[in-house]
Amino acid sequence: MEPAAALTRAIYLLDRELAPSNKVRAFKRALDAIDEIGIDETLKRAKAGTITEVEGIGKSTGAVITEAVLGIEDGYLAKLDERSRIPLGLGGELRAQLKGDCHTHSTWSDGGAPLETMAHTARALGHEYVVATDHSARLTIAHGLSEERLVQQLAELETLNASMAPFRVLSGMEVDIFEDGSLDLADHMLEKLDVVVASVHSKLKMPAADMTRRMATAVANPHVDILGHMTNRKVSGTGRAPSEFNAEMVFAACKKFDTAVEINCRPERQDPPEELLELAVEWDCYIAIDTDAHAPGQMEWQAYGCDKAVRCGVNPDRIINTWTADQLLDWTTSKAS
Ligand SMILES: [Zn+2]
Ligand SMILES: [Zn+2]
Repeated sequence: MEPAAALTRAIYLLDRELAPSNKVRAFKRALDAIDEIGIDETLKRAKAGTITEVEGIGKSTGAVITEAVLGIEDGYLAKLDERSRIPLGLGGELRAQLKGDCHTHSTWSDGGAPLETMAHTARALGHEYVVATDHSARLTIAHGLSEERLVQQLAELETLNASMAPFRVLSGMEVDIFEDGSLDLADHMLEKLDVVVASVHSKLKMPAADMTRRMATAVANPHVDILGHMTNRKVSGTGRAPSEFNAEMVFAACKKFDTAVEINCRPERQDPPEELLELAVEWDCYIAIDTDAHAPGQMEWQAYGCDKAVRCGVNPDRIINTWTADQLLDWTTSKAS
């Protein structure tokens, strides 16, 4: 393996195991460092055992480079691969039925990889489409897209689609839900997007009645296709309590207005909790199993959501990612009209 390919693979695997971002950054720095010194110097130093003398290359990154150059197959990279592998459990069969991922981020907002890399990874994972859903403008901390930048992204999508067909990169956005339930994007732009995910990112502790109204209003918007990470809980690190709202009313709105409830596969979110997902199943809501990936390796997290869907008795026909891209687009279009 080329040293650069080995480092890129390491970054993918570190993202898959949700490694701390400084660790991922170290590998990205090493990638820049070998690019800077060139392949001949990299090979020479790896063979001589002096690669870590290069600025930006440390012990782990140096090991990955050296193993790649010397053809060592049971070193750092192999162990990382083994350790970060996501076991296919109960939901293995369902995972094989999924044709796309409807919630992903790229460097257009706060993702770690260009849209093109995300799209190529989705294809490599067996998908027939991926939806680009970068953040909307109000989420400045996540470098959310203004209308102007969204228009630029749509142009990039067109080029990408021309080169990747029949694979499809669908347009979308993770639109912020304002406190009154309105959305952080104008109707004439929402209309242009293939798939719209709407999520709450602020005032997570507002009173339950207000939060219920806020979410139900967003869900009722004809442009909204998916309700993202509905409780906003965090189950790891310092954690975060779920927002409070009347789940029956929110699911009733999802059912009435054909808005899918997202199973957010991020390991630190695992949203919604299983008792809520079971309630969504009782309400016969549509379900989307999405990774909310901010890096290529994170797109493998869909397996977690599939396990959960099976545990909670979700009917695969109600899962919008089991449909073809055309079926999905027919659905989003008919909802909005
Ligand atoms: Zn979000
Ligand atoms: Zn997101």
